[in-house]
Amino acid sequence: MNTDLVIVGGGAAGLMAGARAGELGMRAVVVERKHNPGRKLLMCGNNRCNLTSDRSVPDLLSGYGDPVATFLSPALTAFPPQALRRWFAERGLETNVHADGRVFPASERADDVLHCLTDTLRDLGVPMVTSCPVTAITRNGEGFTIAADAITLTAARVLIATGGVSYPKTGSVGDGQKWAKALGHRLVPYRPGLAGVEFVEGWLAPPRDISIPDVALHVLSGGDVAATLNGEMLLSRRSARGPCVVNATRAIARLGLRDFSFTVDLCPQHSAEALLALLTAQVTKGRNTTVGDLVSASRLPRSLAVDWLRQEMGLRLDGAVRPEDGPLLRRLVDALKSWRPAVRRIRPLKEAMVTIGGVVLEDVDSATLESRCCPGLFFAGEVLDVDGPTGGYNLQAAFAMGRFALASLSHSFGGRVLVTGRSRSPLPKRSPKVRGPSRAGRRRGGNHGTGRGRRTRR
Ligand SMILES: Cc1cc2nc3c(=O)[nH]c(=O)nc-3n(C[C@H](O)[C@H](O)[C@H](O)COP(=O)(O)OP(=O)(O)OC[C@H]3O[C@@H](n4cnc5c(N)ncnc54)[C@H](O)[C@@H]3O)c2cc1C
Repeated sequence: MNTDLVIVGGGAAGLMAGARAGELGMRAVVVERKHNPGRKLLMCGNNRCNLTSDRSVPDLLSGYGDPVATFLSPALTAFPPQALRRWFAERGLETNVHADGRVFPASERADDVLHCLTDTLRDLGVPMVTSCPVTAITRNGEGFTIAADAITLTAARVLIATGGVSYPKTGSVGDGQKWAKALGHRLVPYRPGLAGVEFVEGWLAPPRDISIPDVALHVLSGGDVAATLNGEMLLSRRSARGPCVVNATRAIARLGLRDFSFTVDLCPQHSAEALLALLTAQVTKGRNTTVGDLVSASRLPRSLAVDWLRQEMGLRLDGAVRPEDGPLLRRLVDALKSWRPAVRRIRPLKEAMVTIGGVVLEDVDSATLESRCCPGLFFAGEVLDVDGPTGGYNLQAAFAMGRFALASLSHSFGGRVLVTGRSRSPLPKRSPKVRGPSRAGRRRGGNHGTGRGRRTRR
């Protein structure tokens, strides 16, 4: 065997797995298709990288929902958000918690997260081969042959961390799923998760982004509410996005809904009756009350309110409302509490933040992340049928699985001890707070093929 372990894919899961292999002193190689690793990681959170969440593990698990939650539970329990943040902090990358619980690097730069990972690989001497698309993984006696155009590796174990199929330009194109199928695994068909939504109404695609800060979006199917998602709705020229919209697309895909519609509550903080009472009091109290004054009870921004009132109710923002206009107030409350924008379509998978579908979870042991069909083969990250809502859930899952797979990989398998290198201490013997680039790193001026100098913030 060339090596004990080949990790295919240098994304969030593969890089974290490589770092853990280095900490454990395993002989491992990371093989990456692109000329620089972590391209999707760099896009995360609008290049700011929402790398995890401040929620507790039980809270996170309820966000993923089953079957993902049951599968992820061992990995997340072993490497929860607090441990992830500590891991990065020990390597010089501090993180901050935003008011909504999302966690970002203090620098708000995704490249700092990537460099922290690639620096760790470099410091621990874990090689990474870039510009090297693996073309096939086949069984070779007790181990595997990993074939790429330029090189062929043999390894006792393989970890497939090749990601989902969204944003294929980042390098994740579904290769891992194809090899998994060839090696006897079942696949769940792909669907877009965390994608934008196009509405039929042209005025809901404004030339400049408009944010409606806090709405409750109900997904209706067969007359029933199938899911309710809360949070911001962001209208843009291309599609509607924002947490409540993209999470709705995940719910639609996970629930397998074909026929569905949206009802949006623009005033989730008030019940219909409370809102009616509020508006009635406003009209009774104030002189010269306008429709615009009343709409301000909702979170509807003024820039949208003009069109919304005209299209939904045939009213003008400056139209007067008198105390005797009770039916109009009732209509306004109904419209604010159950606005029904018409969905034209969900944006395609290639534009989705996550892929729903992939390697069937029952074919992989959640306690080890080893295949049940092909011993010695491990999986981590979005290549599996694992996805979560927006808010750091997906990177947390990928990092936790990448690290967790190494726990079982590093143990003996079939009576043979895998770890062949000398066990290293988890960190180089220097303070992470003050550590500068290694001499070799400075000479190279590079970070494992990322093409940039060291950037980890201190
Ligand atoms: C625009 C956008 C924003 C996002 N923002 C966030 C966010 O803020 N927070 C969050 O939690 N999640 C976010 N996500 C989701 C998150 O990025 C993914 O869930 C996560 O990156 C998955 O990690 P992974 O390691 O499984 O796969 P990837 O990160 O996709 O990595 C897979 C790697 O495998 C390599 N590879 C594929 N095939 C081969 C092959 N044949 N040979 C060699 N290498 C191969 C690819 O080049 C790639 O580098 C976002 C996604 C997108 C698209």
